[in-house]
Amino acid sequence: MEIPREALLVLDELKKAGFEAYIVGGCVRDFLLKKEPKDWDVTTNAKPEEIQRIFPDSFYENNFLTVTVRTGSENPQLAEIEITTFRFEAKYSDKRHPDQVQYAKTLEEDLSRRDFTINAMAMDQEKNLIDPFEGQKDLKKKIIRTAGNPDERFSEDALRMLRAVRFATTLVFDIEEKTAEAIKKNSLWLEAISKERVRDELVKIVMADKAADGIEFLRQSNLLKFIIPELLENYGVGQNKHHIYDCYQHALKALEYTAKKKYGLEVRLASLLHDVGKPRVKAGDGINSTFYNHEMVGAKMAFEILSRLKFSGKEIEKITKLVRCHMFYYNAGEVTESSVRRLVRNVGPENMEELLQVREADRIGSGVPKAEPYKLRHLKYIIDKVSQDPISVAMLKVNGKDVMDIAAIEPGPKIGQILDALLGYVLDDPKKNTKEWLSEEIARLAKMDEKALKGLADKSKEEKFELQAEQDESTKKKYFVK
Ligand code: ATP
Ligand code: MG
Repeated sequence: MEIPREALLVLDELKKAGFEAYIVGGCVRDFLLKKEPKDWDVTTNAKPEEIQRIFPDSFYENNFLTVTVRTGSENPQLAEIEITTFRFEAKYSDKRHPDQVQYAKTLEEDLSRRDFTINAMAMDQEKNLIDPFEGQKDLKKKIIRTAGNPDERFSEDALRMLRAVRFATTLVFDIEEKTAEAIKKNSLWLEAISKERVRDELVKIVMADKAADGIEFLRQSNLLKFIIPELLENYGVGQNKHHIYDCYQHALKALEYTAKKKYGLEVRLASLLHDVGKPRVKAGDGINSTFYNHEMVGAKMAFEILSRLKFSGKEIEKITKLVRCHMFYYNAGEVTESSVRRLVRNVGPENMEELLQVREADRIGSGVPKAEPYKLRHLKYIIDKVSQDPISVAMLKVNGKDVMDIAAIEPGPKIGQILDALLGYVLDDPKKNTKEWLSEEIARLAKMDEKALKGLADKSKEEKFELQAEQDESTKKKYFVK
């Protein structure tokens, strides 16, 4: 792998102007791991005003000494490069914000403010590594270790504890012992952190391939208590004969499956939370225990959890719906079309696919999945069927009132016959479905004798039934159901 041209150009310009310049942080880590970095960050001893003078197409809008340069690259990862002046953060009194951001004199000073050894490396144009905290060694050992004393570093910014778990999860690393101990000991400090920052890290954990391990990591580090304590209520709560796992393990297994399938954020969170209400409604014990209404209680809890973590209204609504509806009953032959229609209406047609994904995760995550491929295919067939527009005169670009106006006739059976006849023409040739063509045809049909018109209408009704049956057959074929 090479440092991309755009980043090299930025380093070059800064050097030519007499400054030091390095790529730094996450991109150096990813570069050494041979992974595509999300973005390329640069650090320099040039001050923001000086950076802006060197790069006319740049902007400086915050007070953290970062200037963003537009490179003109088509690649979104390289279109903007952030250049930050060497800095360090002076005195943290609230465990989240530095009281002051100050210029640092040296690169080493800048690196020492960074969170973990693997994130505290810099590299120059010639790919020389500046690595005062032995980050490269930790990368090889696959461990997350704070740069400096963990208690101090976490007390400066408590989010770093969560970032440690996040990096351990996404990189599939371990957390070094002293760092891990410090997290356990200081987990309460996470309360000082804004929910938005916590949410952003949680999302990265949930979107990782090892998402389930990440949640378990959070539990073991005492951090889960300050993010989703409700999940801890599930820990050790036994289930009934349909399950081999306790509620907490089941939630993780369901999440694990959605990660394996690379499903989206909402499905992953809904799978993690789908049974969160169970402990609060559990009745009885052992193999015969029951959890009536847990999906309703769970949906309410999911709503509270996600609102607290400042997820967007749209995400909250979708995930809550998925949790609330995950228990829908279906059995080929037993479930009526109208009940499936009701389900589609409740969840929303746009969420049906995701609901089936949650259901699948629930089933696989039970540890004793019942075979139900046929049932599922049958349900998908019914969903598709009830979601299709029926073949009917409602498809026409004219309606009964148009017929009455154009033909100047009173309400009566003739209107329906004219519409039926029109539908016949349109089914033969969909191009005829325009207001102009149909209006002319209405005038013609209105003059036709009664018997001929009725014959025409009946013929087109037959055609409609045949087409409808054909459509149904092909939908059945699509899902391999009989
Ligand atoms: P990602 O792949 O998620 O972008 P990253 O390492 O680039 O990972 P960023 O949040 O983009 O993470 O931060 C860039 C760099 O800034 C980090 O590599 C680290 O050096 C430093 N950094 C970020 N957040 C903190 C923090 N809370 N405390 C100390 N240093 C931090
Ligand atoms: Mg980054």
